[in-house]
Amino acid sequence: MASTSSLMSAVSRRLEGKVALITGGASGIGESTAKVFAHHGAKVVIADIQDELGHSVSQTIGQNNCIYVHCDVTDESQVKNAVDRAVEAFGKLDIMLNNAGVIDDDKPRIIDNEKADFERVMSVNVTGVFLGIKHAARVMIPKRSGSIIATASVSSYIAGANSHAYTCSKHAVVGLTRNAAIELGQFGIRVNCLSPYGVATPMAMASCGVDEAGLENLLNSVANLKGVTLKAEDVANAALFLASEEGRYVSGHNLLIDGGFSIVNPSFQ
Ligand code: NAD
Repeated sequence: MASTSSLMSAVSRRLEGKVALITGGASGIGESTAKVFAHHGAKVVIADIQDELGHSVSQTIGQNNCIYVHCDVTDESQVKNAVDRAVEAFGKLDIMLNNAGVIDDDKPRIIDNEKADFERVMSVNVTGVFLGIKHAARVMIPKRSGSIIATASVSSYIAGANSHAYTCSKHAVVGLTRNAAIELGQFGIRVNCLSPYGVATPMAMASCGVDEAGLENLLNSVANLKGVTLKAEDVANAALFLASEEGRYVSGHNLLIDGGFSIVNPSFQ
């Protein structure tokens, strides 16, 4: 089985000269993607609300190649500022990864859920992606190129175990992605989303109330693909494909990274 570090290909620098902004880049999938993108030569802007973690990831990558910007993706002025900071610091924006996300704390049933709790999930997971697309497109359109990616989820495809708000939000990300791909194609901008199966990140572990080993055991026990544990780096590598020249004719696509789980399972049990 491949070790985590070997998942970061040393073959080539596939994002040399590119500038990427990653929301939710202080932790989990976003953090891993920031490191993979930087490893492939990109300048990276990490935008998050966890300032200490964000600064720490940015320092690990190195100040010449990465900056951290505080950005709550539900606040349009902060999303606009993050995009503008990327352009100020590195001259342009080529790749926008709208990755910040939350899941309902208690996984309530629809009849028990509060409107405010439903809207909190939609606000980060859908409005945040909308604002990220809008402001990335603002600076990409004049350049007539760009790759915009969102982290959706296998919950964009099947329903069940996760909360209704989370499922709804991730289905909405696919619709937004497809619409944006149509609108922005005329400017040479591609828009796609990624839909991973479970990865043991802080959000997923907290949501399931288990540690990394416990969550991976749980996920592996019901996975379709046996003998492989999905890691954040696997999702980062899929983002790398969509961000790089290898993906230059892929747009409007929802890339499932679920080992075939959604083929076997029409819903979560
Ligand atoms: P994570 O908790 O490690 O990372 C999420 C990041 O988003 C955190 O750094 C958090 O501070 C940030 N964030 C939350 N609200 C924000 C806001 N309003 N503004 C800016 N940043 C905000 O979790 P993760 O699993 O890496 O999640 C990343 C994305 O992957 C999410 O969109 C999630 O829905 C998606 N996803 C995760 C899994 C999984 O199993 N981990 C599976 C499918 C999809």
